[in-house]
Amino acid sequence: MADIGLVGLGVMGANLALNMAEKGHRVAVFNRTAAKTEAYIAEAGNLAPRLTACYSLKDLAAAVAPPRPIVIMVQAGPPVDEMGQALAAELAAGDMLIDAGNANFRDTRRRVGEYMKRGLDFLGIGVSGGEEGARHGPSIMAGGTQKAWARVENILFDISAKFEGEPCAALVGPEGAGHFVKTIHNGIEYADMQMIAEIYGVMRDGLGFTPAEMADIFNAWNEGPLKSYLIEITAKVLDAKDDKTGKPLVEVILDTAGQKGTGRWSAMEAQDLGVPATVIEAAVAARGLSAQREQRLAAEKIFGSAPMQLGDALGDRKAALKVLGQALLAGKIAAYAQGFAVMARASEAWDWRLPLGTVARIWRAGCIIRSVFLDDIAKAYSAGAITNLMMAEPFASNLKATEASLRRVVAAASLKGVPVPALSSALAYFDFSRTARSTANLIQAQRDFFGAHGFERTDSTAKGFHGPWSTSA
Ligand code: NAP
Repeated sequence: MADIGLVGLGVMGANLALNMAEKGHRVAVFNRTAAKTEAYIAEAGNLAPRLTACYSLKDLAAAVAPPRPIVIMVQAGPPVDEMGQALAAELAAGDMLIDAGNANFRDTRRRVGEYMKRGLDFLGIGVSGGEEGARHGPSIMAGGTQKAWARVENILFDISAKFEGEPCAALVGPEGAGHFVKTIHNGIEYADMQMIAEIYGVMRDGLGFTPAEMADIFNAWNEGPLKSYLIEITAKVLDAKDDKTGKPLVEVILDTAGQKGTGRWSAMEAQDLGVPATVIEAAVAARGLSAQREQRLAAEKIFGSAPMQLGDALGDRKAALKVLGQALLAGKIAAYAQGFAVMARASEAWDWRLPLGTVARIWRAGCIIRSVFLDDIAKAYSAGAITNLMMAEPFASNLKATEASLRRVVAAASLKGVPVPALSSALAYFDFSRTARSTANLIQAQRDFFGAHGFERTDSTAKGFHGPWSTSA
């Protein structure tokens, strides 16, 4: 009998099942469209003997050894509920559903409760790494009970990516914690990608670099502190040629970015928790602005295009590259500080006890934001409690060394109209965060003026002071 069942042979499910089979696990598979299952088994080659094709959920339940773990890897949202309900009708108490899609963690919290009432365990796992990761080793962030996790831990460890031999899979907390962590992962991913795109914009429009030149620059950056999957693929993207025109491929790709919602959820959850995640928010908004292409074209007709060329504002070519690399690193520190701060607050709000050092460790390989930077974050969490990553070593020292470059890039780009919303947000976050005396005293006075909200004084611990405003004003 099969060790595990899997429903949904789309891009992710198909590859996860092959990954499981390759690691020696027997997998029973089902897909809504039967033809896909037939084709899948036919193409599974030497892994086919470990895969059992099922053409009904009843067959699937019969094919898996009880207590049955069944992975659901279908489109997130209502299909998970539909499939879960249909599966539950075929399962017995003690069996377990594992939603491995990009669920909203609030749905996962609800589902855990619903299935628990029916005697079924429910594990919500965030899986990152795309198609390649699913096939050869994703990063896996699980939420659920220790008991549920223990039953599939060996399979998930086996299929996950490894960082220096350590599996990039962990139970990070109860109920929706795994999907929440995946959501924040995606928010950070949006921020990382947007800042890289902004640096590309400064190089392309401000400094006139060609894609081939930029590919070399990103390749060089991938040897240093920015070393990461996203920098690596950016170099490859910039190097690619379009078969049809012979031009650099990046130049024929339309400049409107897609999104499936997890970045937006991450910004919304940050707002809901009252944690500033301005770089992530700016990245989500930038995708929105990119999608308003017609409006951008119309606005350029009204306002004209910005001058863009930076001249020697960042120094000669060698100096400019150093400044740009440092700006990217500084922005990255701010973005990750925000993402980790959101997780820290969520952990308190829902009493999840999220192990943030473990989260950093399981993001070091397999997932889209994997990088050497995450190894530093993991080490920083091992070294002691962290209030905000920006203030922890080595990030505080790195920020001291790079913030001037971030400032130069944002200032130079802003003067010439090169849009750098995420980098500017990172700079503003840093500047505001290290300002001991902010301007919120004026906000408090205004709030008291129009709403009698009261304020605290700098020279008293008492609360509820009011100003001498006239109520008729
Ligand atoms: P996909 O290739 O579009 O496949 C979707 C699968 O869901 C198909 O097997 C489809 O079955 C099934 N499905 C859709 N609606 C269904 C319904 N109402 N009832 C039953 N089955 C239904 O999707 P994917 O890229 O594998 O993504 C699956 C999940 O993984 C999503 O939550 C996605 O957000 C998440 N994810 C994706 C990636 C990625 O890089 N693609 C990375 C991480 C996480 P049919 O064949 O019958 O249509």
